[in-house]
Amino acid sequence: MTYKITLIPGDGIGPEVSNAARRCVDATGVKIDWEIAEAGADVIEKYGTPLPQETLESIRKNKIALKGPLTTPIGTGFRSVNVAIRKELDLYVCLRPCKSFKGVRSRYENINLVVVRENTEDLYAGIEFEEGKQETKNLISEIEKLSQKKIKPDSGISIKPISISGTKRIVEFAFEYAVKHNRKKVTAITKANIMKFTDGLFYAAAREVAKQYEGKIEYEERLIDNMCMQLVQKPELYDVLVLPNLYGDILSDLCAGLIGGLGIAPGANLGNGIAVFEAIHGSAPKYTGQNKVNPVAMILSAVLMLDYIGEKEAARKLENAVAKIIAEGKSVTYDLKTDRNDPTAVGTSQMADAIIEELAIDK
Ligand code: NAD
Repeated sequence: MTYKITLIPGDGIGPEVSNAARRCVDATGVKIDWEIAEAGADVIEKYGTPLPQETLESIRKNKIALKGPLTTPIGTGFRSVNVAIRKELDLYVCLRPCKSFKGVRSRYENINLVVVRENTEDLYAGIEFEEGKQETKNLISEIEKLSQKKIKPDSGISIKPISISGTKRIVEFAFEYAVKHNRKKVTAITKANIMKFTDGLFYAAAREVAKQYEGKIEYEERLIDNMCMQLVQKPELYDVLVLPNLYGDILSDLCAGLIGGLGIAPGANLGNGIAVFEAIHGSAPKYTGQNKVNPVAMILSAVLMLDYIGEKEAARKLENAVAKIIAEGKSVTYDLKTDRNDPTAVGTSQMADAIIEELAIDK
């Protein structure tokens, strides 16, 4: 079987890490017909937009994309091309597994957490009212009337919508993920003691979903502030974490920190039957074209993609090959060396070569 998959190389370091990931996936033997689609700062001149319609169409048609990082251009009307892709395709799940690899410098060992972040609602909905504008003044007086509470007149306002339907679908995803991946527990995290009608509603909807999994998957709740401390003190107590958008954004970086940083942290944006896989890191423009940065986050995003399309064995082998090369510590990029100036560090493509050689041994 041949899969047709959209490949968005991205910009900055994107093309280098995407190419490394593509070569590693091809080396697993899984047959993929890659459809290259452009996006990002480099294509604005050609298409008049950083997100050409052709690119969105390619993802809609193929249903799966592997995407390199994209710089957010300033002054084009786009908040972020990445956010635009998620919105256009209703990719409501941001999945970020955080797993320790032996050989990566980190304060922690044996971390194996999965962050499931809601990707479309909450303070990221983009509903904002600027301080001083007439509509903001109108809104403030309306809120004061309705709530009998005072708001300082020189305030800006951001709206936080959280819905029952939006929460149920993200929590259902978290439980289904737990079932499929032999996980034991789902923890829902909010600040419901303070935001009763948004975060409180998130808990209420989550409890409804949790009932369907009683006896199969454990369910518990934590407040976000306590959770930050708990993860730093005893991360081994946790398994799958499900959160509204903003807390999920913050906590997934915290979890990336637990495993040693951005160079090895993969991600996926998932919707109904549609998926875009990408590293958590950005386009690191200062390293563009230097064949220097770590390709692992992108390669592990491709591992998630292989798992998603059902190529479990190929996914397992590629992850094992990555783990072996990192553990050996020889053919790794500068960021995985004890001394970042270590002259024995290899380049992006050489690290991919080493992983591909390791795959060949495992055949
Ligand atoms: P960044 O992740 O691009 O880089 C921050 C630093 O992290 C780099 O300077 C580098 O030291 C390190 N780093 C990142 N990736 C690495 C890798 N693969 N190997 C080794 N080190 C690595 O974050 P930034 O500088 O804040 O953002 C740069 C651009 O990327 C911005 O335009 C931002 O909007 C965009 N961005 C895109 C995405 C995405 O495409 N999903 C995500 C985050 C940021």
